Amino acid sequence: MSPSRVLVLNSGSSSVKYQLLEMNGSKRLATGLVERIGERTSLVRHTPLASGGETRERTGQVADHDAALKAMAEELAADGLGLDSPELAAIGHRVVHGGKRFTDPTVIDEQVLAEIERLIPVAPLHNPANLTGIRTAMALRPDLPQVAVFDTAFHTTMPESAARYAIDVRTADAHRIRRYGFHGTSHAYVSRATARLLGRAPEEVNVIVLHLGNGASASAVRGGRCVDTSMGLTPLEGLVMGTRSGDLDPAVIFHLMRVGGMSADEIDTLLNKKSGLVGLCGDNDMREIRRRIDEGDREAELAFDIYIHRLKKYIGAYYAVLGRVDAVAFTAGVGENAAPVRAAAVAGLEGLGLAVDEGRNAVRGGGPRLISPEGARVAVAVVPTDEEMEIAQQTYALVGKNN
Ligand code: ADP
Repeated sequence: MSPSRVLVLNSGSSSVKYQLLEMNGSKRLATGLVERIGERTSLVRHTPLASGGETRERTGQVADHDAALKAMAEELAADGLGLDSPELAAIGHRVVHGGKRFTDPTVIDEQVLAEIERLIPVAPLHNPANLTGIRTAMALRPDLPQVAVFDTAFHTTMPESAARYAIDVRTADAHRIRRYGFHGTSHAYVSRATARLLGRAPEEVNVIVLHLGNGASASAVRGGRCVDTSMGLTPLEGLVMGTRSGDLDPAVIFHLMRVGGMSADEIDTLLNKKSGLVGLCGDNDMREIRRRIDEGDREAELAFDIYIHRLKKYIGAYYAVLGRVDAVAFTAGVGENAAPVRAAAVAGLEGLGLAVDEGRNAVRGGGPRLISPEGARVAVAVVPTDEEMEIAQQTYALVGKNN
């Protein structure tokens, strides 16, 4: 039998998340993470799903990414799933920024590494960490195909009218300023899973996907291809998020510089880390915000209202972009779990054929499900995302093709 396991790696600047998947039958064998890399209190957490064993945790310094991947390899080996296994077919890496060039998953070689490096100016926080993870994994298993799956790839089908900002073309091109979009792996997976839920082919349906996690983005998907998305040059644009402002008059930035005396770095931190829900009410967890609203907290209520107002504007905008909408799909931590967010986002949109059935919306957990009333013109659905499975499938499909 040919090897059929894929290891998926998501390397951040101070963390590595991993999953080992068996592609025959699409099973998850193990999952884990290494957090606070470089600190004294690094955490290694590993769950051996295949054996049904308990989650193991240990703390103590994990010096760098090399040590982090070695810790992961030890945990996997303890379950008989070591990286030296002949059943391992490939390693799939989540890479945040693939620019215009990477429209598909790509087998990594020196040229690909150089191109990901060239994109660092537009993804200074993410691509360096992704590169470190890739290089470390390549050193561990140099013989194994390593595949990059880009967060931006699904959005490369956006027409120029959606991808360009209305600024001087030469300046934009000189600095590669355009709307790239992110969370693409999730938008791809969820839009396809939504078509499946409707019992139709992805090519036949138009879907608005609302990925609402701590980061949040919306996309308009026509016949399986993305035609617009709410994140732009960076993940800062678009919806109100846990800690990011989303859309804002760019003049706010000049104002903060000229009148507020803030530096570019300070404003960057303000808008990415101290804004959104946390900036508005001090909490970014939707559970906590709902609890405070239930207790009559006005600040939390206003934060929720601002979040919903923006979300509703994007639903309306993408309805207009698509012309005909077959489904609106909610996904990620907030989208999958927060029934009040789903109800509020489509409240009053009956004229567009959008409504939520209270009983269906209140059902918790489970797989993809409809929450719109029977016979509704537009399906409203909860569709759990699975970015690791999507990365593993894309990786496996590519490696299989090349073998
Ligand atoms: P990330 O962007 O970090 O991947 P997730 O998709 O895991 O985020 O979403 C995390 C967010 O989901 C939390 O910050 C919280 O606001 C929200 N969330 C998780 N569980 C619930 C729940 N049961 N009810 C409401 N919100 C939830």
